[in-house]
Amino acid sequence: MKYDEEFVLDVYVINHFNYLLSDKDHDLLQRSLSVAKSPFHGRERPDSISEQELVRSEKRAEFFAVRHSLRVKLLKEKEEEIHINRCSRCQKVVRTPVARMCVWCGNDWFQSVDNK
Ligand SMILES: [Zn+2]
Repeated sequence: MKYDEEFVLDVYVINHFNYLLSDKDHDLLQRSLSVAKSPFHGRERPDSISEQELVRSEKRAEFFAVRHSLRVKLLKEKEEEIHINRCSRCQKVVRTPVARMCVWCGNDWFQSVDNK
């Protein structure tokens, strides 16, 4: 898996800090996610597989775009409430705010945190 800082940050912030979103933004995110999961909901499903794939990837891209814009907004508005957990060795964003292991370089810091 390739490391894409922007994409990884989107996933990280939205997965772990979506409770900081306003109700309106939360709805927007949920709506766009459900459309991405079920792109033919309320519409006719195209006959050809390639067309279905196209619609699916379009809906997925729309969801990613919504998620990205909400993440940017969230980081700007709630910066001090959002802790970005980065690996001390490679500086990449790890999976969760409490992760003690880096999925990117294999570094771990179990000991250093326990002693706090
Ligand atoms: Zn690392």
